[in-house]
Amino acid sequence: MSETSEPLFDRIALIGIGLIGASLARIVRREGLARHIAVSTRRLKTLDRARELDLGDSYTLDPAQAVRDADLVVVSVPVGASGAVAEAIAPALAPGAIVTDVGSTKRSVIQQMTPHMPAHVHFIPGHPIAGTEYSGPDAGFASLFTDRWCILTPLPDTDADALDRLKTFWRRCGSDVATMDPDHHDRVLAVVSHLPQLISYNIVGTASDLETVTQSEVIKYSASGFRDFTRLAASDPTMWRDVCLHNQDAILEMLARFSEDLASLQKSIRWGDGDALFELFTRTRHIRKSIIEAGQDVDTPSFGRQRVNGS
Ligand code: NAP
Repeated sequence: MSETSEPLFDRIALIGIGLIGASLARIVRREGLARHIAVSTRRLKTLDRARELDLGDSYTLDPAQAVRDADLVVVSVPVGASGAVAEAIAPALAPGAIVTDVGSTKRSVIQQMTPHMPAHVHFIPGHPIAGTEYSGPDAGFASLFTDRWCILTPLPDTDADALDRLKTFWRRCGSDVATMDPDHHDRVLAVVSHLPQLISYNIVGTASDLETVTQSEVIKYSASGFRDFTRLAASDPTMWRDVCLHNQDAILEMLARFSEDLASLQKSIRWGDGDALFELFTRTRHIRKSIIEAGQDVDTPSFGRQRVNGS
């Protein structure tokens, strides 16, 4: 398929209009990727805000109404809600429609959504590796996906043309696209995303529980390193609760590995093993360098994550 500037889809239905859904709405509008953007969300308050922000062309609280005649449906809700959303939209899905999602875990979403998907649609799960700690429609911005990976986890019987179309869509949203087996996705993301998130929740939780150091001192001297963890720990509790519950096996495996390595680090400090500490800290420094070289981050203290509303 050629990557022209023609709209790729006649009607895109965005089910869920928080950070990810609103960012998609903005980039779809800016790049003219669809002739019509149908927005649906659970609560009236969110729908009204999406309308105020002019994120779509039509708005409804009924997801089935939004997907009617849509040739692309993107489900952007917490992963624990995927099954219920799939059930609600299934009867209204048009023949040939591509249905995808953006959930942070893939095996569970596939298990929840597949049973509801009619044979006449192409269900292709996905996950853009792009985010911030903000949520809701106001958090969305058009450049969220620029130069970020989007991982698609096609199913064994996924139609090649539909997959190509979805890849083209994400490329025109600014992303690089990779395909991956869903279980592999869940293990990789457990290491690179879910574990750091849990470590952040734990560190910030520990600091807030300490009795000998006051809360005001924690905030005052936070630039020493703590601050970077608080950014992650400020992420949406619903989203992360669902990620933990829906990628349980891989997360528990990575946490066990992490605890072992932490115990070994503890031992090095206790026994004054400076060589072991120096070797570890040198190895980790190289990883940071590789991430910057791969263009996945920039060498600034803010990690380059400036949020430019609506840009
Ligand atoms: P968000 O900003 O909190 O928005 C969530 C959206 O889902 C809202 O429209 C909300 O509707 C709706 N929703 C919440 N609970 C629901 C339920 N039980 N049933 C139906 N709809 C519900 O979330 P987000 O950050 O866009 O995340 C959406 C998805 O993207 C999640 O699966 C997440 O794992 C994935 N993801 C997130 C990030 C990130 O950094 N945030 C990155 C990549 C992927 P109302 O406001 O109307 O209730």
